[in-house]
Amino acid sequence: MKRILEPAREIDVIHETDVLVVGSGPGGLAAALGAARAGVEVTLVERFGCFGGNITAVGVEGFAWYRHEKTIDTEGVGREFEDRAREAGAATPEPQSDSHAIDAEGFKLVADNLVEEAGIHAMLHRAFAAPIMEGSEIRGIVTESKAGREAILARKVIDATGDADVAFRAGAKTKKTPVEEMQAASVMFSMTGVDKRKFIEAVKADPQTYKDWESGEWSVETTGKEDKMFSPFLRKPFEKAMQAGMIPAALQTISGTWGAVYDSGDLTYLNLVHLPECDGTDPGSMTKNEIEGRRQAILAVEALKRFQPGCDTAKLRNFGMTIGIRDTRKILAAYDMTGEDVRGQGRFEDSVGIFPEFIDGYGILILPTTGRYFQLPYRTMLPKGVKNLLVAGRATGGDRTSHAATRNMMCCTVTGQGAGVAAALSVKHGLDLEAMDISLLQTELKRQGVRLH
Ligand SMILES: Cc1cc2nc3c(=O)[nH]c(=O)nc-3n(C[C@H](O)[C@H](O)[C@H](O)COP(=O)(O)OP(=O)(O)OC[C@H]3O[C@@H](n4cnc5c(N)ncnc54)[C@H](O)[C@@H]3O)c2cc1C
Repeated sequence: MKRILEPAREIDVIHETDVLVVGSGPGGLAAALGAARAGVEVTLVERFGCFGGNITAVGVEGFAWYRHEKTIDTEGVGREFEDRAREAGAATPEPQSDSHAIDAEGFKLVADNLVEEAGIHAMLHRAFAAPIMEGSEIRGIVTESKAGREAILARKVIDATGDADVAFRAGAKTKKTPVEEMQAASVMFSMTGVDKRKFIEAVKADPQTYKDWESGEWSVETTGKEDKMFSPFLRKPFEKAMQAGMIPAALQTISGTWGAVYDSGDLTYLNLVHLPECDGTDPGSMTKNEIEGRRQAILAVEALKRFQPGCDTAKLRNFGMTIGIRDTRKILAAYDMTGEDVRGQGRFEDSVGIFPEFIDGYGILILPTTGRYFQLPYRTMLPKGVKNLLVAGRATGGDRTSHAATRNMMCCTVTGQGAGVAAALSVKHGLDLEAMDISLLQTELKRQGVRLH
């Protein structure tokens, strides 16, 4: 490959802050709120024009679709997201659980309000480009935007990019799932003009279950109790479309779940297109899959119009603003969580919160119908090799099965709030992140309404 030398240059330091959070998904938004409520100056940098990450940018609305009667659930800022969305009319009862699906568009405004009320310094439309390092200590970041390159200095940085972009470029140890084994990416979309009554009647006449997710060589490991439970799953319209020659026989991947159907005729969070071998850290791979994903989504729309009752007069409402990426880099942390931790009610002295026993990914589906839960240790956010940095959200340290649990949005809010409070306390008390006072951390998390055990 040809190479050029990028010339060194002076750039403006446009802002200085105590805690800098990069990325505003469930992890980053929770981190910024946790830190601000612990009483330090917080800045939230986001590459897109809205906060919320996958919720708002991709259209992932199933915030707590795992919650059932006996679920012992996370408390803290994640529950506040759901409550605030409900109060703002930006949520609707979710069809398979005791929870509310969050409206992706409405949550943009909810997130704006949360950020503003907490006094967080908002910096949208700036992408992280490079870390500012002094030896192994991160001192801030360089952003790239319409304004060119600019520097932001910070006493502590939280990487909530989902892909561990900051940690990776700062030289922390990270790993990436081999591309052929990555969880599929998805182009999400919503439709409008659906006859809700007819749609629901058809769903009730032929209820689908989690066992129906299995097809051909693809199997789902459950504990057995999930198999007969209702799932808002759609495959039959696409099988019929295939028989009618509308979908090529080679395209066996179109099927999946719908999220919410409204009286207004909106059918949202259509998670029907699965794109294997899409590397979310490779723009070339993402370009190819965005285009292929949209092509497949339109095939799905046409199939639903023809074969799903209630959809005959419907049309595409919108695609997610960007392709949805599930699986890229994770840090190697001071403690990497394991499958045993999430399957076996892991307990940790440095707990920053709990998450119910909900595992969804890599062919496993376990729903928290029994009250079992695990704790998240502070050390899973502490990267190896870089100081002043924490990682929150889906890039924390752990093995595959643990990530099938910790990647879930509510769980990302647990590590987010934990990282935010820890970063704030380290600034206030002059503590190294590696030497965090866990009892101080837990006291502040409790004050913020987090359930630690
Ligand atoms: C299609 C799909 C369906 C899913 N379904 C569910 C579900 O039903 N329920 C569930 O709980 N989870 C679901 N997940 C998983 C869940 O959405 C993610 O694991 C979760 O959102 C991760 O949260 P996060 O905060 O770590 O990252 P993200 O939500 O990805 O947020 C990262 C943020 O960082 C920003 N960012 C990234 N890089 C940069 C940069 N260089 N500079 C500045 N900003 C940057 C991004 O724009 C984004 O706003 C799904 C995921 C996908 C893709």
